[in-house]
Amino acid sequence: MNRRGEHDVIVVGGGPVGATLALALARDGFDVALVEAREPSFGARDAALDPRVVALAPDATALLREFGAWPLPFPERVGTYRHMCVWDAAAPGELHVDAAERGEAALGWIVENRHLQHGAWSAFADRVTVVCPAEAVAVESGAAPAGATDVAGADPVASRAVLELADGRRLRARVLAVAEGADSPLRTRLGIGFTGRDYAQRAVVAHVATERPHQDTAWQRFVPGGPLALLPLADGRSSVVWSLPSAEAERVLALDDAAFRAELGAASDFRLGPIVASSPRAAFPLRLREASRYVEGRCVLVGDAAHVVHPLAGQGVNLGLRDVACLRRVLAEARRRGADIGAAHILRRYARERRSENALAAHAFDLIERTFSPGSLPLAALRGAALTAAGRFGPLRRLLVDAAAGRL
Ligand SMILES: Cc1cc2nc3c(=O)[nH]c(=O)nc-3n(C[C@H](O)[C@H](O)[C@H](O)COP(=O)(O)OP(=O)(O)OC[C@H]3O[C@@H](n4cnc5c(N)ncnc54)[C@H](O)[C@@H]3O)c2cc1C
Repeated sequence: MNRRGEHDVIVVGGGPVGATLALALARDGFDVALVEAREPSFGARDAALDPRVVALAPDATALLREFGAWPLPFPERVGTYRHMCVWDAAAPGELHVDAAERGEAALGWIVENRHLQHGAWSAFADRVTVVCPAEAVAVESGAAPAGATDVAGADPVASRAVLELADGRRLRARVLAVAEGADSPLRTRLGIGFTGRDYAQRAVVAHVATERPHQDTAWQRFVPGGPLALLPLADGRSSVVWSLPSAEAERVLALDDAAFRAELGAASDFRLGPIVASSPRAAFPLRLREASRYVEGRCVLVGDAAHVVHPLAGQGVNLGLRDVACLRRVLAEARRRGADIGAAHILRRYARERRSENALAAHAFDLIERTFSPGSLPLAALRGAALTAAGRFGPLRRLLVDAAAGRL
């Protein structure tokens, strides 16, 4: 930072995506400030597990490694899934996928949300100027005045994005990356729309112990209320992500432990036997959202601030990490050519690439959700047939294995 409180890049939001972006750009030699509203609590090595976990495909962990945020500080807390089993309550047929088919050791890893964030924060050292706790409350986008020409290589010194914090401090940067998550206030202040649909569902999450071991397998069953996933944790338990219609999720949240375990056992087809213990439960709303544009002036959206997808494919963080990879590449190229990294034509390159890929992914997951949603029971037979066919038909099977590994 120079004496005027100025940086190359300010990242607002130190969640998994924002923190990784700050780290990746700082390692590339940019002067980066990270503004985060809440002091993160990563927990000790033996702390209780974060109720919220994410499944990371090999593609995502390869990106984290490239950015310097993998392996995580407590690797013994990372669960590994080597197999995947998907089946449908309303139709016969099931799909099994095995990492060995690809000659790989794992299909992916199950990581606590706050632990993923910890991975990036613990690698900052003195490379990133951390401004935390500090809430961003206002922004000037640094947009060029109407009629100004957008010339490659030009660096209008006066033009910077300006961020105002709740305590009155003002920070300036050539690029301001908004990584505030789905409810991003700055996105609204920038006048960027965020539209989509609510699934009228909530995901109930908890960690459970089962009578039989999880066998390093990610189990996913399509039940009438919505998809139910049991993801293998490193401590032998499984992490539950149970998508349910909102009212039903409220009811399940309110059940006593014994009733919850009984209902969950039945919903999981007792694949792992009865549920013998369960942690406190939490719930998250499920929605599909896309920003109407990714760039305003010198400000860009990344991660959930730009796109929110249904968690059934476990791709939210993965898409955010691809945003990080793209923005990193675009800014590095601009710097190599001596251009202003925040010039409109530079940031548009990022927006074009990421907006189309994220939109494709969001609509693919939406299509899966519609096909398997409770209201589409006539499709049940088709789903069962599809799962059976996928299990037997080599090319389709490979496609699904690639999807599970985050290679699509
Ligand atoms: C039930 C559920 C299951 C999921 N499972 C998976 C999965 O298996 N795999 C996967 O890849 N994804 C999964 N996801 C999605 C994943 O959790 C999100 O994509 C991811 O957390 C987005 O990260 P982010 O950094 O963009 O935003 P966030 O995690 O929301 O972080 C935003 C950060 O910005 C900070 N902030 C906000 N406003 C301000 C402000 N004004 N000033 C300063 N700081 C601010 C917040 O404090 C927060 O730290 C799941 C989501 C849900 C709900």
